[in-house]
Amino acid sequence: MEHQDQPALGPGEHMDPVCGMTVEEGQGAITLDYKDTTYYFCSRGCQRAFEKDPEKYLREGPSGMS
Ligand SMILES: [Zn+2]
Repeated sequence: MEHQDQPALGPGEHMDPVCGMTVEEGQGAITLDYKDTTYYFCSRGCQRAFEKDPEKYLREGPSGMS
């Protein structure tokens, strides 16, 4: 059995903590700094969701569409 909790991310890739999508950093990347960490998001919607309740996503991880 392989560990599934950490997707393999390449250099410059980050996981959207809200939906679990891989987001590439660079121009136009949607980010949010929270507690000295920069989080990357696939969309404004995910950024806003994280902003509303960051602890929920950090605690539970990406939960997919809901
Ligand atoms: Zn997302």
